[in-house]
Amino acid sequence: MRWEPIGKPDEVRASANMPDYDRVRREFDWAEARSQLSGLPGSRGLNIAYEAVDRHAAGERAQVTALRCVDKQDHVTEISYAALREWTNRFANVLGGHGVGRGERVYTLLGRVPELYIAALGTLKAGCVLSPLFSAFGPQPIADRLRIGQGAVLVTTPRLYRNKIEQIRAGLPQLRHVLVVGDSDAGPGTIDLREALAHADTEFEIPPTSPEDWALLHFTSGTTGSPKGAVHVHDAVVAHHATARYALDLRPDDVFWCTADPGWVTGTSYGIIAPLTHGATVVSDEGEFDARRWYRVLAEQRVSVWYTAPTALRMLMRHSPELAAAYDLSGLRYVASVGEPLNPEVVVWGQEALGRPVHDNWWQTETGAIMISNFPAEEIRPGSMGRPVPGIEAGLLERGEDGRALVEHGTVRELTGDDVEGELALRPGWPSMFRGYLHDDDRYAVSFAGGWYLTGDIAARDADGYFWFVGRADDVIKSAGHLVGPFEVESALMEHPAVAEAGVIGKPDPVAGELVKAFVALRPGHTPSDELRSELLAFGRRRLGAVAPKELAFDDDLPHTRSGKVMRRLLRSRELGLAEGDLSTLEHAG
Ligand code: AMP
Repeated sequence: MRWEPIGKPDEVRASANMPDYDRVRREFDWAEARSQLSGLPGSRGLNIAYEAVDRHAAGERAQVTALRCVDKQDHVTEISYAALREWTNRFANVLGGHGVGRGERVYTLLGRVPELYIAALGTLKAGCVLSPLFSAFGPQPIADRLRIGQGAVLVTTPRLYRNKIEQIRAGLPQLRHVLVVGDSDAGPGTIDLREALAHADTEFEIPPTSPEDWALLHFTSGTTGSPKGAVHVHDAVVAHHATARYALDLRPDDVFWCTADPGWVTGTSYGIIAPLTHGATVVSDEGEFDARRWYRVLAEQRVSVWYTAPTALRMLMRHSPELAAAYDLSGLRYVASVGEPLNPEVVVWGQEALGRPVHDNWWQTETGAIMISNFPAEEIRPGSMGRPVPGIEAGLLERGEDGRALVEHGTVRELTGDDVEGELALRPGWPSMFRGYLHDDDRYAVSFAGGWYLTGDIAARDADGYFWFVGRADDVIKSAGHLVGPFEVESALMEHPAVAEAGVIGKPDPVAGELVKAFVALRPGHTPSDELRSELLAFGRRRLGAVAPKELAFDDDLPHTRSGKVMRRLLRSRELGLAEGDLSTLEHAG
């Protein structure tokens, strides 16, 4: 069943940054979008941090609040664009003072504290590559990612250092400096960042930066193998800026709150860069999700544009509408969501509880910026991800037996016509497109075929060009908006002496979308028990942190393909009580 479209009032349509989607789409070109930015003075290139900070600090917006950080105790720190310029200069000088050179990787493992923004933007000023990590990761995923990216610097807190880094540091010889944010002494081999910043020079000249210089390294997961480091360049800022203008309707006088975790791509592209390039005020909240707290932040900070995620909205929806009504949300002008399928009920609930419908949009780590979106002046079709942003061509490709786009002799077949379903693909060439997977040219190469970038998602398109998410074409799991690679989880479980083999799937969950469930075959001499189940779950949590399985079942007859891989698809079908589908590749078949 499709829900009634939600139209927009005339005054909203008229005042939107993009009042006419079809016209802007027709006339759009990336060179014009690039001209909305300043470029480094003296034609010295394009640097994300200059566009986000320094150009405002040099102009009329110097004293406007760039960052308003609410801490766990509700204390608010405000930083103007002029002050942010100085803080980020100081950070760049701290890096230089410690001999950290251009192109080296600086990782952050931080919550939403002011130093997160200072470190991220200071890193980009220095010409280093920023790689943000999810602070709820356990030691193992952190170590793997630091190793793959050859992290030279890590910025973290004393608590995270003690709990997660100390135990892995000896195995990371390339990690030369750990900068810690906090009052207590984190111990030998660490540098107190606040003290270092206090003593650093406030002036720094951003070196010439080519738009193609590496800027960001975001880790993502595939079905197999180690995590993939997707590389983005400084030119990505052109897409961050343009998409925030069209898909988030962002303006300089907005107060913008992006709730994404700083460790995921959204936390950087839209939690830091895009709103600052517009000279807006970024609100951040260090606290964890809590319905009352979030409504309070929306109301007290007078948030006007809110970018959040389906899981959070579903958690808000569990409370009565009176809760939302108790807060003054009249400042809220625009609400958008990303990261996982947004059920139509949530879009409609937004209209009722927040007074604004929720605009779903779609993108992924590799695309660097929003690709498909519902727009401010266009009707929303609840349940649909919307239409491609100006400058983006999206298509659907015919799929083969393995569920992915059918590639024959390097060519693919685009599905035209109405109401078709296939693998979602994008025409390469937009500025924030990833430029590679670090040390993994093969995996990068197979992401493209027939002139398309293949997204790994299956989608449908209706007669009016709206895209509808159908599912993933592979086995990766989306839990509470976080992409989880089953292989990484299986590998961690198999390090337990009782585990012979593991198969990990996403099990549908009404709030988190999916939760991670593991099926485990035991080694001889071990027998299933509740104690062993608890032990394995705890083992997973200790190593993996938030991406560990929440459920675990013993299964001494895991299904395998003829090539010996655990058939996750079949585990999932069995879990859901679905037809088992085509089993021709199952080892016991035929
Ligand atoms: P990530 O690279 O972690 O940002 O995850 C990207 C994946 O999240 C996409 O390939 C989709 O599978 C999923 N995703 C992102 N946005 C949406 C959305 N609006 N609707 C459905 N799935 C989404």
